[in-house]
Amino acid sequence: MVTLTMKIGVDIDGVLGDGVGRLIQWAADKKDIHFAYDEVTKYDSVFDGKTVGELFAEAYADPDVVESVFPIIDSDMGFRNLRQRYDVVVITARPLYAKEATTQWFQKHFSGDHTILFSKDNGNTKGGYGVDVLIDDHVKPLEQAIGHGAIGILFDQPWNKDAVTQVAPAGRMYRATDWWQLVEEVGLLHDLWLRQIPRAV
Ligand SMILES: [Mg+2]
Repeated sequence: MVTLTMKIGVDIDGVLGDGVGRLIQWAADKKDIHFAYDEVTKYDSVFDGKTVGELFAEAYADPDVVESVFPIIDSDMGFRNLRQRYDVVVITARPLYAKEATTQWFQKHFSGDHTILFSKDNGNTKGGYGVDVLIDDHVKPLEQAIGHGAIGILFDQPWNKDAVTQVAPAGRMYRATDWWQLVEEVGLLHDLWLRQIPRAV
């Protein structure tokens, strides 16, 4: 008998790790740029002339910054839970120069062997890895993955509160407010996936 396992892609920053929280500390310490978590309402929110993306690119060049990101609350429990049940890969858009520090960070906070895929190795798209479900805190990579047949789960963050999609067909994108809800939603999607009938939960 062939056993099929649902394949899940999980983003790091904003889902497993509190990248923005660390970025806020770094920007205050190193750049004298000050902003609060709730002020990051978009990925390209601008603080003192720098977008969040530009600040990340600079901050993550320092391995110590990457290695001192705090895990998102309950992500250890949730990630372990997903790995016990499904085929889980980690998919991040972090810069390639942060690879080694990212791997170290993962080993420190999440036990076991992990596959970490860097989308910048893949033409900057998270959509082409053949996952059945992608979990991310931004709409764009979810739309890419949905275009490849996946279902997307948007992890609640201030920068996606008002996010809307006209691209994703009904029943292809969901939202989770925390890791407990996320694990539950994935379980429901798995039941549907087994029956090959994606529909709203
Ligand atoms: Mg992210």
